Amino acid sequence: MLKIFKTRNEWLNFKETSNIQNLGFVPTMGNLHLGHLSLIEESFKHHSQALISIFVNPTQFNSAEDLKNYPRTLSADLELLESLMKNYQDRELFVFAPHDKSEVYPQDFDTQIIPGRLAEKLCGAYRPGHFSGVCSVVYCLLKLAGATAAYFGEKDFQQYLIIKKMADDLALPTKIISCPLIRDARGLALSSRNNRLNESQKEQALKLHYSLKSLLSLLEHQGITNAWDKRKEIMSEDKNFEYLEILDAKDLENCHDQTEHYIIAGAYYVGGVRLIDNITYKRGKKRDA
Ligand code: AMP
Repeated sequence: MLKIFKTRNEWLNFKETSNIQNLGFVPTMGNLHLGHLSLIEESFKHHSQALISIFVNPTQFNSAEDLKNYPRTLSADLELLESLMKNYQDRELFVFAPHDKSEVYPQDFDTQIIPGRLAEKLCGAYRPGHFSGVCSVVYCLLKLAGATAAYFGEKDFQQYLIIKKMADDLALPTKIISCPLIRDARGLALSSRNNRLNESQKEQALKLHYSLKSLLSLLEHQGITNAWDKRKEIMSEDKNFEYLEILDAKDLENCHDQTEHYIIAGAYYVGGVRLIDNITYKRGKKRDA
């Protein structure tokens, strides 16, 4: 069953008058794909009811052009959710799809959450204010949802770490859970931005994934110094990389040969579209390659 809410009051009134005890929450910006659905599916493993929000948050975009071009496909999103729910007849899915930003940010909203050191690295170094926009909207949405747990994809690993830290630091009652990154059959990380690429650009975009994999292989078999050398080589040969980094996945600080959990992450431009991807690697245990 799918139930759609266009205003915060509709949702809050419904929540107050319904018996919702153990809700899972999945915040998104819409243009849904299997990556988003995997978060709902994970939530359904733990909660019989889930709320998904579909809201393109203007405050996390660095360019007006990017905000304008962000795909908004609400009817297709709802169809996809309807078809997902055929597999979950005994579950309930609520959709919060505000028709206006005032449904998320109260009138005259004038508060920002400024994340700390984690937001200085990777994407944060190139997108000033982005993670402040993310934290502020996620805080508002978490309060509105009032869920037991919220599910975030490791596609945006840095975002997950920052939100987890915010929730811990501010003692938010919602548990923050990470879920694996979902790729297509070739290895391309699913992203709403992929819709802006043609087939040959998608092929080109795989360069990002292959580069991460080659660094992973060096890291596993030859150690961090060789991986760093290769990283330098890749970056100097292909100027489409915005960054390509190997860091400690725990705190995004510098890593070394004894680091337990690494993240290899990159941002890459194809046809003016900015794509991100990452692989995390626990020493002695490989995943998601
Ligand atoms: P977005 O709509 O891009 O803001 O993403 C909403 C949520 O879906 C975030 O927690 C993302 O990390 C997650 N997500 C997006 N793409 C993927 C993917 N390919 N695999 C797993 N999670 C994803």
